[in-house]
Amino acid sequence: MNKAFFDRLPDGREVSIYTLKNDQLELRVLDYGCRIHSLFFDGRDFVCGFDDVNSYMVDTGYQGAFIGRVGNRIKAGKFTLNGKTYQLAKNENGKHYLHGVYSHTLWQVKEADDEKIVFVHHSPEEEEGYPGNMDLTVTYRLDGDCVVLHYDAIADADTPASFTNHAYFNMNGFGSGDVLSQEMQILADEITLVDDELIPIGKRMDVTGTAFDFREFQKIGARFTAEMDGYDHNYILSNTDNTEVCGYPLTRAATFRSERYALDCYTDMPCIQFYSGNFLGNGPAFKGGVPQARQNALCLETQYEPDAVNHGGGILPANTPYCHTTIYKFSRR
Ligand code: BGC
Repeated sequence: MNKAFFDRLPDGREVSIYTLKNDQLELRVLDYGCRIHSLFFDGRDFVCGFDDVNSYMVDTGYQGAFIGRVGNRIKAGKFTLNGKTYQLAKNENGKHYLHGVYSHTLWQVKEADDEKIVFVHHSPEEEEGYPGNMDLTVTYRLDGDCVVLHYDAIADADTPASFTNHAYFNMNGFGSGDVLSQEMQILADEITLVDDELIPIGKRMDVTGTAFDFREFQKIGARFTAEMDGYDHNYILSNTDNTEVCGYPLTRAATFRSERYALDCYTDMPCIQFYSGNFLGNGPAFKGGVPQARQNALCLETQYEPDAVNHGGGILPANTPYCHTTIYKFSRR
């Protein structure tokens, strides 16, 4: 494991960058937000990232970050639990809650070696307005051609919880142009319907016969229209075949591929947000001065259904372990 100085936060605290490496992969991660900064396979970097901390702070794309306490949107940042109403920050345009602050937190590194890093964070009760103290452990591990993301947490009160990772991938390599002619498969029969502010409306839609059907491989941009020119949707995973990957019983949720490379996403989470980088383009330039551009990379965010807490779910009971795994597996085609 190689640890190096990355940058300083405005308050002077140091942000470090850690490099994990095996014979197939090289993963560079920051202790700021447990962010995946670079991910090399076959000598090529497949993810977006920035060269300095200020860019990570001002950009609104959550580049490479670990996301929590709840990923995606909570309508008006508000929910009621055990008879009490909680108000979270309305950090998306002052209207809704989006993704939380763990992505903007300096995590502690508990252990690190050549192929594994373990981050920990204590999130106190009322941080962001949530109930309960929560202790989190985020583990990233390389295993052959797989990047294993494993999340553990426990809270001392009932609380909403849904973690994810927000890496942006391009399967021709970072900085190689848009992803619209690359192909996606998502093993899901239904999506969560949302309103025009991307807030779930409490209904699902069967994808059959629509531009949202990715059960067979489809080019990402192939079915765009003037009304629908990007994906930012939650898919309810339907693959029930459990496969053992790196010692975990998981299902394949999605595969994203170019002509030369493929990325399989395995998980034990029930849903995945397919976000085709529609808002990329306004933030600071990426690593090495590569400009941001719309749909030049995309995210596959394994998660619980968005805004579940306002639709009868999404609660981690007190003193109950949260334990989930997602794996990104690389291959050459
Ligand atoms: C959301 C997008 C949002 C992006 C960056 C994604 O998870 O689905 O709507 O713009 O995160 O914040």
